[in-house]
Formats: sequence, C-alpha cells, structure tokens
Amino acid sequence: MASVIGTEQNPLRVAIIGSGPSGFYAAGHILSPKAHPGLVAEVDVFDRLPTPWGLVRGGVAPDHPNIKAVSRVYEKTAARPGFRFFGNVEFGRDIFHEDLVSHYHAVIYAVGAEADKRMGIPGEDLPGSVAATSFVAWYNGHPDYRHLEFDLSVRRAVVVGNGNVAMDVARMLALTPAELERTDVADHALEALRDSAIEEILLLGRRGPAQAAFTNPELLELGEMVDADVLVDPRDVALDEHSAASIEGEGEITSRRNVEILTRYSAAQAAGKRRRIVLRFLVSPVAVHGEDRVRGVEVVHNQLHPHETGGLRARATDRRETIEAGIVFRSIGYRGVPLPGVPFDEQRATIPNREGRVVGPDGETVRGEYTVGWIKRGPSGVIGTNKKDANETVDRLLEDVAAGAVIEPADPAPQSVEALLNERRPDHVTYSGWQAIDALERATGEPHGRPRVKLASFDELLAAARETVRSSL
Ligand code: NAP
Repeated sequence: MASVIGTEQNPLRVAIIGSGPSGFYAAGHILSPKAHPGLVAEVDVFDRLPTPWGLVRGGVAPDHPNIKAVSRVYEKTAARPGFRFFGNVEFGRDIFHEDLVSHYHAVIYAVGAEADKRMGIPGEDLPGSVAATSFVAWYNGHPDYRHLEFDLSVRRAVVVGNGNVAMDVARMLALTPAELERTDVADHALEALRDSAIEEILLLGRRGPAQAAFTNPELLELGEMVDADVLVDPRDVALDEHSAASIEGEGEITSRRNVEILTRYSAAQAAGKRRRIVLRFLVSPVAVHGEDRVRGVEVVHNQLHPHETGGLRARATDRRETIEAGIVFRSIGYRGVPLPGVPFDEQRATIPNREGRVVGPDGETVRGEYTVGWIKRGPSGVIGTNKKDANETVDRLLEDVAAGAVIEPADPAPQSVEALLNERRPDHVTYSGWQAIDALERATGEPHGRPRVKLASFDELLAAARETVRSSL
C-alpha cells in the first residue's frame, strides 16, 4: 500500500495546465511552506507557449509595467523545491488527459479564456472588424497573433465595450511613438502604431456611465494622455433616475467615481491634441457596414430599464445612426474554450465546478480534477482576484488529499513525465529555458531603455531557450 500522500516517500503530485496568474497562484499555494507546513509536493506547470505568465505577458498593456511586475511573485513560486515548468507543451496535442491521470494525484485546469465574445451582427466579419483580444495579443507579441495586420491608416477607430480591455485598446491607439518606444510592445506593433493615422478613438457603451465596467485608475489615465483629448458629451453623463439611484449604495464607489470623472471630462475643453478619445453611452452596434472592408458602424440608441434579476438592462429604441469608421474593435469580453476530455458548460463557457472541483455531466465531482481562474469563474476580476480563487480550489484539493479522494496514479515518478515529453515534444521548454528567453529579451531591450524586446515567434523563442541548454552542456 502506498504511503500517505504529501510525504518524502510519496510526494503529492499535481499537474497544472496553464501558467497564467491563476495557475501560478495555485502552484504557489500548494508549494507554500507557510500555508502547508510539512506537505511535500511536486507541481508541474504546463503551457502551450514557450513562455509563462499568461495574460501578464500577453494581455496586460505594455504601458502598465507596474502591473506586469506581479510576475516577481510567480518567479518566487518557480524557485520553490518541487516546481517544474514545461512550456511549448499543449494539452490535447502533446499531453493528454490519460497521461495526467497516470502520473499525477491531481490535475488543475488553469487555461483562462482564449477566445472572444461575438456581437452577432451583420458585417462583423468584414476586414477591419476585429476582436480586441486579437489586437491585444498582437501588440503584446503573442506568437500566434504576430502575422495579423491591422489597417491603422484610417481616421476613426470604434471600440465596442466599456471594460478595461476597451480602455487598454484606446490608450494603445492614442499613445505617442515616444511613449510606446519605452515599453515592451512587440516590435511589429510598434512599427504599425508609429505610422498610425488614427485621429479619433470612439468608445461605445451599450449602457450608461453608471454601468461602465472599467475601473477608476484606467478611466483617470485617459485624461492624462500626452497627445490625446478625452471628450464626453454632457448629455451622455446626465443620469436617468434608476442609474442615479443605483450608484448611491455603499458598494458602488467605483461606479460613483466613474460618473464623477466622466462628468469632469464632459465639462473640460478639448486642448486640441493630435488625437481624441470620445466616450459615448447608451448605443449598441446593430451592423458593421462596408463592401470590401469596414466603412462604418450602425448603432441603435438604448434606454435603460430595471431587470427582474436586478440591475439595469439596455433596451433598443427606434433611433438609429451610422458612424463612419475604418476599423472596429469588439471589446465585449473573452470566452473560454473547451479542453478535450474535460467537462464544459457551453453557455457560461467555463468548466463546471463546485468551489473549483470539476463537476461531470452526471453532476458528480470528477475525482482529482480541479479548475482555477477564468475557465473556472468566467473572464472577470483583476489579476489579484485569481489568488483567492486559486486558494479556494487548492484548499478543496488538499481536503480531498486528506480524505483519500484523489487520483491513484500508476506511475508517479517525476522522471516518467520528462521521458514522455522528451519523446513526444523534445523541444519543450523548461524553466531554465524560459530564463534564457527572459535574459535575452531584457538584454536586447536595455540599450534602448526598454524593459525588454519580445521574441514574438515560436522559432525565435525556442532558439533562445535552446541556447541555455547548449551552454549548460
Ligand atoms: P468586461 O469588463 O466584462 O467588459 C465588457 C464590456 O463589454 C462591458 O462594458 C459590457 O457591457 C460590454 N458588452 C458585452 N456584451 C456586449 C454587446 N453584445 N454589445 C455591446 N457591449 C457589450 O471585459 P473586458 O474588458 O474584456 O475585461 C475582462 C476582465 O479583465 C475584466 O475583469 C477587467 O477588469 C480585466 N482587465 C483589467 C485590466 C486592468 O486592471 N488594468 C485591464 C484589462 C482587463 P455590459 O456591462 O452592458 O454587459
């Protein structure tokens, strides 16, 4: 009989699929000697990219280096005994569900939300109508998106949605070349953004200023752009009675403050800067117009009505308007995608779970399988939200370990996983491979006063990772 799980003789073995914030917080909580003194655990984190950190590398805007600095916390986790990283290894291509259950006591799915939500309107697929999430991945040097091209030779860009991603997109389109040149924006994006002819960035919210999903610091930042004015029509910030009442509550500080900031913007005079960021509310796109490419967006004006489930919903009026635009970014949220062999709730686009324990189609929890982050709860919250979320899942996992309710792997030896990957994916990237990529990117950025110059193709990333392997032989 195997000894107790979590001891020197029988370390707890956990596989985490996805190395973004939620995956790293889960790894950090399992490997924390303070949280779990005496627990001996081995955590293998897999990622389909050669690089870790998920949206911290591929999502956070390049002009937000302080947010990116959270990766230092993950670096500490990676330095703990028992941690291993296997990049360039894709679940469902290189490693499968059956491999995981034969090598680990528990599996945590931390794959985030890879796709985007669609507007479902005519013309949405015209050239020039794009997902903000693709634009974000492109400017952040995600190797899958490097080949994309965005036509920035147009005068007006429309950004649909009132979340923080919409804010990021607006800022990235409005930053000056000098500002961009100090960031780690991907070189291909830097070149394109430098030549951008965009003069106006128009953000469209389907509800009002009191319902906007962006947070206060992001909204304030718009007002501090070096070469872009922020314009809000005073009529747009005049709240209807329901909205005015809705922001009075104690938990409504963010919305109240957003309305205050927007009111201030609406009273300010444009300073005649090179670009304008215009915020409009209570309008929903109903069609994207154009023959061969986007020429405009038709919107319907909305009114807000209380909904039976609480909150205020937008309802279309019969007033329509067409706005000329050369590019449209839909920034209405990310969407999770299913993993082969793992339960999936199509409607919520998440892995069904109870406090992180994966729930199968029969309504029962699946032994030894867990989930964290956006694929667990949907694409909401800031990076730090994932810490609490991951802790909850890991606490349930450790309860199951104590109750003997995890997987009994046939072959828990850590070297078996390495052998399997050497055979199936010889060019997988270990943590030292990532450190080589990191060092090279930083060294390349340094002479230009940039935090790093990103390697943005698989070939470049893998070549950089191989260099360490070669130099350590
Ligand atoms: P989000 O915060 O969920 O915002 C989505 C926006 O799209 C909302 O304004 C929503 O309006 C609107 N929307 C949804 N469906 C729509 C439709 N069919 N037509 C028109 N508008 C529609 O999503 P996100 O901006 O993608 O951000 C995802 C998460 O990442 C958020 O939690 C965000 O705070 C976080 N994030 C944080 C930062 C940061 O901290 N700096 C940066 C980026 C992202 P309704 O409210 O009416 O549904």
